[in-house]
Amino acid sequence: MPSLIDLLRSRLVTLLPSELKTSELPHLLTPIRHPMLLCQRRAMLIVDRVRLFAFLFAVLTPLWSIIDLMVFDTPLWLRLAGFRLMACLAFTWLLLFYRPSGNLLDAYRAIAILFAIPTVFYIASHTLLGTYQLAQFSAVVGAGYAFLPFVLMAGLTIFPLTLIESVVLGLLLLLAQALAGYLSWATLNWPSFAGAFWLLILIAGVASLAGMSQLAFMIALVRQAIRDPLTGIFSRGSGEEILRLQWDSAQRNNSPLALAFIDLDHFKAINDNHGHEAGDAVLRDAARSLLNTLRGSDSLVRWGGEEFLLIMPDTDMQQAHRALARLVGNGLGVRPDGQPLTASIGLSERQADASLDHRQLLELADHRMYLAKSAGRNRLHGHAGCYVPQGGLAGLEG
Ligand code: GH3
Ligand code: MG
Ligand code: MG
Repeated sequence: MPSLIDLLRSRLVTLLPSELKTSELPHLLTPIRHPMLLCQRRAMLIVDRVRLFAFLFAVLTPLWSIIDLMVFDTPLWLRLAGFRLMACLAFTWLLLFYRPSGNLLDAYRAIAILFAIPTVFYIASHTLLGTYQLAQFSAVVGAGYAFLPFVLMAGLTIFPLTLIESVVLGLLLLLAQALAGYLSWATLNWPSFAGAFWLLILIAGVASLAGMSQLAFMIALVRQAIRDPLTGIFSRGSGEEILRLQWDSAQRNNSPLALAFIDLDHFKAINDNHGHEAGDAVLRDAARSLLNTLRGSDSLVRWGGEEFLLIMPDTDMQQAHRALARLVGNGLGVRPDGQPLTASIGLSERQADASLDHRQLLELADHRMYLAKSAGRNRLHGHAGCYVPQGGLAGLEG
């Protein structure tokens, strides 16, 4: 019996998106705990897609008036054209004034507005058309108005959404459909309404799957774009972006932000004496040792060849000093000749150093790293001077 369960489980696991790591699978379900850069890129992409949709709707909604004109009588056409004009203005407003900011709440607002405009248009036109007896061609075009909820539900597929986001948006569209049914209660054709509702639920299911598969692809692409292939930690480009975002957030909340610039000591000698492969292995080990000392909110960046940048939000100078002193004390691994691998570290902090911008904070950490190097390596240089590990914490100067 257990082997059957194991077999089933292993078969099921092969159905999961193979481009993702196991630890990334929960990212498909909820937006909570998405890595910062994924969150930011996804928010940008969603607003870009919203703007594309808004453009298409802004053009097509008024154009359809030509078809309406051919089949409806003038009073009905005029009222529908009025609705279309208002929808077109709303879409144009969305297109002109909504720019991708990288903020997820902005992205949610954009999707909500994008879907609210046609939903209101749909409810208004559906209620209006329900009061008319349509025949022949006008009935055909009138029936076309009922397709709008399906178009919207299918439109969800163009967004890289988590399951919970798709479910919430899908439910809102179903609610709008139910409201439209309620408003035209008297003339409602029950069986066809229930059938349409059922079809809408099926499309919502398919749209959720499509949204998650887009998201899976996006997670894998973002990971590849922002990670350094040798060590798996953030590459320099993404590190700069994280630093900027963390700086903005620290300034907004008036919270501390510590930076540690870490340069491995005498690393070139490893390459020279033991070869590049051995050097690569030491770099990977060093990155792993550094990762072990991090908190969940910290980010480790490979800044250059054997240089790392550690970004620590909500960490004041003392806390950062304590964590890094422990790191320097424990060492970063061993060199191929068995000697401990050491580093020189420069530490800066936004509040303690009264930095004006993130560049200044970075320059200060870099400068202090050089001070630690020239003071003899294997030490940490912070705001108050140098910490040398051999002396333990008692060796802290200043
Ligand atoms: P110091 O104590 O002054 O920091 O000396 P160092 O030898 O660590 O510094 P230096 O800047 O002279 O040399 C850095 C070396 O790192 C040179 C370069 O060949 C090596 N390096 C850079 N990137 C990689 C890499 O990806 N793999 C390997 N194996 N070596 C690398
Ligand atoms: Mg260096
Ligand atoms: Mg070095």
